[in-house]
Amino acid sequence: MKYLDEYRDAEGARKFASLLARITTRPWTIMEVCGGQTHAIVRFGIDELLPSGITLVHGPGCPVCVTPIEMVDRAIAIARRPEVIFCSFGDMMRVPGTCSDLLRVKAEGGDVRMIYAPIDALEIAARNPDKQIVFFAVGFETTAPANALAVYQARRRGLRNFSMLVSQVLVPPAMQAILEAPRCRVQGFLAAGHVCAVMGIDAYGPLAARFGVPIVVTGFEPLDILHGITMCVQQLEEGRVEVENQYVRAVRPEGNRRARDLLAEVFCVVPREWRGIGEIPLSGLSLRPEYSDFDAERRFPAEVDSRRSIEPSLCISGEILQGLKKPSECPAFGRQCTPESPLGATMVSSEGACAAYYRYRHVRTEATTDGA
Ligand code: SF4
Repeated sequence: MKYLDEYRDAEGARKFASLLARITTRPWTIMEVCGGQTHAIVRFGIDELLPSGITLVHGPGCPVCVTPIEMVDRAIAIARRPEVIFCSFGDMMRVPGTCSDLLRVKAEGGDVRMIYAPIDALEIAARNPDKQIVFFAVGFETTAPANALAVYQARRRGLRNFSMLVSQVLVPPAMQAILEAPRCRVQGFLAAGHVCAVMGIDAYGPLAARFGVPIVVTGFEPLDILHGITMCVQQLEEGRVEVENQYVRAVRPEGNRRARDLLAEVFCVVPREWRGIGEIPLSGLSLRPEYSDFDAERRFPAEVDSRRSIEPSLCISGEILQGLKKPSECPAFGRQCTPESPLGATMVSSEGACAAYYRYRHVRTEATTDGA
């Protein structure tokens, strides 16, 4: 398939692997930020092609995984209200809250609908004027423009029965939090190409300079990732600290100006809680005061204040999302926690690291364990 096969070429992968073997003289630990990159790495065995000194650790770039359990509980409580039609992307439907999930609310009779674009929720609002339509706006900078557009359009169309439960997060502050953590072992980053396609690469220069880490904006196909790792290792070996762009076919330095303008029109930057990590300053987006009428947290305040949320004690997804541990190091992995019966969001999401290990490596993990 054109534009896909060329980035999955086995010969090209072997060339990057042998180049990496030649240039690597010391151990290096590199974090891929995005969950999409994590899945590609595990699915295509990219980590197994690398010289033994290069360790890839997985970052917090799965939006579903980092949505705090309090927010999931809030969504569940709102979705249970009889006057509400609750709309969400499919990934959030099975993310466990403290006692339930959205799919279970639907099974119990709640009007919970899976949609493919936030703008679809506006059409539902227009067709159901006697109902309250709530959209669960989860994601990074990649989904934020479409969510911003939904609110912008709702105001223009006068759809007063539409609101958004906002749990938008930002990547650069999370990278900073990872670098500031005492146990951080990350020496270089593969930044998420699609985030940079929206936001540009300005935010990464100060991070690279302050913490002395190379950052390579990287795509999502196997050759993109191998190329990004090679660029990162070249910097590390040469003692350079720069922001480089591997994903030039999609990322312009300034990003997408119209999308950024729309984000600035609708959202403001706020502190946000990250599941398993805690609050990170200036790491989230919230609706600006001019759009606060569309804020589901204001429209349903009882659901906001009365929740008591508890993370499952066995789940170590917070350490996995910070690159401190791998899913196979979780004692519950593949035992108490499976995709059919998940304890944490990282086992549910299509971008979650635990889901990737379960899908592509679980059989081998069991065989290794049994044979040990
Ligand atoms: S395997 Fe399950 S319990 Fe363990 S970290 Fe992943 S989601 Fe949490």
